[in-house]
Amino acid sequence: MVYSLAIHWFRQDLRLSDNPGLSAASQSGHVLPVYILDDHNAAAHKMGAASRWWLHHSLTDLNTSLGGNLRVYKGDATSIIIGLAEEYNIQEIYWNRCYEPWRTQRDAQIKKTLASKNINVHSYNSSMLWEPWNVLKNDGTPYKVFTPFYRKGCQNAQPPRKPVSAPQNLNLAEGNFGNCSIEELGLLPQIRWDIQLEQHWEIGEIGAQKRLNDFITTGLHGYKNGRDRPAQNNVSRLSPHLHFGEISPNQAYYAALSQGENNDTDTFLRELGWREFSYNLLYHNPDLPRKNLQRKFNNFPWLDNKSTLERWKRGMTGIPIVDAGMRQLWQTGYMHNRVRMIVGSFLVKNLLLHWSNGERWFWDCLVDADLSNNSASWQWIAGCGADAAPYFRIFNPVTQGQKFDPDGTYTRHFVPELKDLPDKYLFNPWEAPNSLLNQANVTLGKTYPEPIVDLKTSRQRALDAFQSLKP
Ligand code: FAD
Repeated sequence: MVYSLAIHWFRQDLRLSDNPGLSAASQSGHVLPVYILDDHNAAAHKMGAASRWWLHHSLTDLNTSLGGNLRVYKGDATSIIIGLAEEYNIQEIYWNRCYEPWRTQRDAQIKKTLASKNINVHSYNSSMLWEPWNVLKNDGTPYKVFTPFYRKGCQNAQPPRKPVSAPQNLNLAEGNFGNCSIEELGLLPQIRWDIQLEQHWEIGEIGAQKRLNDFITTGLHGYKNGRDRPAQNNVSRLSPHLHFGEISPNQAYYAALSQGENNDTDTFLRELGWREFSYNLLYHNPDLPRKNLQRKFNNFPWLDNKSTLERWKRGMTGIPIVDAGMRQLWQTGYMHNRVRMIVGSFLVKNLLLHWSNGERWFWDCLVDADLSNNSASWQWIAGCGADAAPYFRIFNPVTQGQKFDPDGTYTRHFVPELKDLPDKYLFNPWEAPNSLLNQANVTLGKTYPEPIVDLKTSRQRALDAFQSLKP
């Protein structure tokens, strides 16, 4: 090899545009673009099934954009990166920073080892508007409450970096670097449940940009109110693209701002702010995925009931809006935010099952499964998080359905066995007169389940359990 070679290690930045690490690598010589599936260091946090499916397609797309030159590997990233640098005499390694605890620990170790071998690491921010160490309270400690975090911390910080285009002159390394094929990563499931997901997504950088453009032209207007209506097309559905870095938050932020400052834009930027807040929480509380932030919840009297958990997972609780959400998750790999809150509240409050049951199921089924957003949101729902919904605020899934899916379009789509029920009983079929149920071909316990719990008594049971906690 006669030319100087630099590695760009792709991680959660599977795109060419607005990729600071890749741009910098392209300036330094020929680039060896690398991806490593590192289940070894991820351990308990290794990707779930839906994320693996997404990753397969995202890598395939990235490889096409790189003219087939993406080198993929499987195993312990520490030894793979160091091995590559040594074997091919590579002096410069570029990557964009990741923020999950297992990744920061691993990266710090790799950096140290490479430094001891006089190999340079250059790291950049490509996935956050503001990095966790840049948004702190005046006393230097992290924020625990969203509103001051966003209003004071983020808005007093430097404005987010403006997006940059894809590198103009990307010279890629040629030759054999001992990599495997994307297929050999084994990311696709053996039983092809993923086929049903395909029609809902266009995976990869181009798909992400199309999604953003579609949202900016058709969804952003009306986002403030429409974002709570699961049947409306007001949300961006950018979450998996953001998670895998097929698009940067900066691209989304400035695309929204280009539409002018108004209530819809402000609300959208605020949601991006929630993503920042979750990343901040995880960065400063590495135990967030497994331990209650409010330790008093360690004594909470959770139930252990496998059969109710199973019915919740399968969307067979007999509570229509909950079942609609759980089936949307299963069929599309995504669930609307409002419905995530409803099914989450139902699991931890009405069923009194530990939030980690929900966190793990979402982890496996969501295409946007994200360690920060998922754990912070579950702790928020359960009431044990930093800036959590108070435990005593328990969603009523009937009134939530009536309010946010008023004409039942969303619920009827995912729970078609109730489609002929009138709106009045769609969210509470157990209260419908028998004659109406007959007319709608609904037989509770046969064509659709009886409710798994009584909403009123299970609500009271949750309140009593909460009362039992000492402050
Ligand atoms: P939009 O409304 O278009 O919002 C734009 C972007 O802002 C999102 O893509 C996301 O990156 C961010 N965002 C929006 N709402 C939130 C929020 N409440 N918290 C953090 N970021 C937010 N989001 C994930 O990305 N991964 C998860 O694993 C995840 N798990 C969740 C679990 C529960 C129990 C709950 C209640 C929420 C969870 N969320 C998660 C947050 C939120 O539901 C999704 O980010 C959102 O529904 C994604 O849809 P969207 O892209 O259309 O959102």
